[in-house]
Amino acid sequence: MSSSSSAVQAKAFPDGTTDYVPLRGKKADFNKVHISDTPMTWSNWHKHVNWLNTTFIIFIPLAGFVGAYWVPLQLYTAIFSVIYYFNTGLGITAGYHRLWAHTSYRASTPLKIYLAAVGAGAVEGSIRWWSRDHRAHHRYTDTEKDPYSVRKGLLYSHLGWMVLKQNPKRAGRTDITDLNEDPVVVWQHRNYLKCVIFMGLVFPTCFCGLMFNDWLGGFVYAGILRICFVQQATFCVNSLAHWLGDQPFDDRNSPRDHVITAIVTLGEGYHNFHHEFPSDYRNAIEWWQYDPTKWAIYAWKMLGLAYDLKQFRANEIEKGRVQQLQKKLDQKRATLDWGTPLEQLPVISWDDFVAESKNGKALVAIAGVIHDVTDFIKDHPGGKALISSAIGKDATSIFNGGVYNHSNAAHNLLSTMRVGVLRGGCEVEIWKRAQFENKDVTYMNDSAGQRIHRAGTQVTKVSQPVASADAA
Ligand SMILES: [Zn+2]
Ligand SMILES: [Zn+2]
Repeated sequence: MSSSSSAVQAKAFPDGTTDYVPLRGKKADFNKVHISDTPMTWSNWHKHVNWLNTTFIIFIPLAGFVGAYWVPLQLYTAIFSVIYYFNTGLGITAGYHRLWAHTSYRASTPLKIYLAAVGAGAVEGSIRWWSRDHRAHHRYTDTEKDPYSVRKGLLYSHLGWMVLKQNPKRAGRTDITDLNEDPVVVWQHRNYLKCVIFMGLVFPTCFCGLMFNDWLGGFVYAGILRICFVQQATFCVNSLAHWLGDQPFDDRNSPRDHVITAIVTLGEGYHNFHHEFPSDYRNAIEWWQYDPTKWAIYAWKMLGLAYDLKQFRANEIEKGRVQQLQKKLDQKRATLDWGTPLEQLPVISWDDFVAESKNGKALVAIAGVIHDVTDFIKDHPGGKALISSAIGKDATSIFNGGVYNHSNAAHNLLSTMRVGVLRGGCEVEIWKRAQFENKDVTYMNDSAGQRIHRAGTQVTKVSQPVASADAA
């Protein structure tokens, strides 16, 4: 650790985090009310704006679009602009994001210097500042302490958070000890403005000027407009990736997976996965998914420039996927009518059951549960006569193969007709006792506490036809 990096280490808090100590500019006065904590009005709006960022994100790109009108785009400059676009984009995705913010792999010093350089060329702040905010984003996703919370609006999460001033105290605290100990990070932070101007504008201008004699084209296309596209593309990780797509691993927070976001952001679009497994060097885990950042890191590993690539076990990833599927299934199951739960049904004596059946109610007892089939008799697929013959009787055996072994669908339909439980109803008693003793595998609750009724385990399903007094 160099002496300059130890000087930037802030005091550590008991939870392992450190305060963010600005290394450049004047020290913030934390006792003063921060402008972002006051409402925006016509008289103070200009104080809310971060003019430096606004210049880089809005004014310079606008000037570039205007300039493009007079500067013809040459083929070689266009090709270089695209190549440089990918390099500076990788500086953010593979460098700022996966290497420094998440330490999902380790890089040799030459690779670090390359990533810090092209990352600066993307003009999105220093590694130290960017990674600190990004760690807060992961730690406090969707809350007040999330620096680019999508809950404040899509536009805010895209660039509002950069264009408007932010109270440095509000963003959640994170540990950046490792960044303060990285000489490349500290050097880039201290010399950030020089890095930006050189990598963002001077280098692409000179390259196109010296190689293709297209100085102005290099400045406008490979410089300004390329910066604008890289910025807008990588900002999509904070906006689009929290707004568009599926949530195969966890849907409690906003991150989502979508191929469009992946295409725009060099593979950062599998963001639901990324928030669940942030220290995995991959964002896309399937080989056919678009994640050029992952491919680049893997290629660097092959070249001996990157090592210790972190990866979660497939077992852990699949567990998350199964749990989320289960949750979706539970939600769907909860919308269906599975019949009144047995414990909520009135207990009816055998004599009352027989008496009510004689008084015109079409009641049938199956496995200790009483069903009112009055409205169903005319629709019974086996005909009116057979179902009518079971009224006022224990039809457990008839229903379960004595006369006809009813389908799974029939058991499900039957459960919606249940109106009571028979006193002394043997099957239900066994079922209830086992449930009480906590050893019945047929009785299960989903995550919301709703009972799960699996095919073949309905209470009316009796595997061995029982000999009942009436059926015999
Ligand atoms: Zn995110
Ligand atoms: Zn991240």
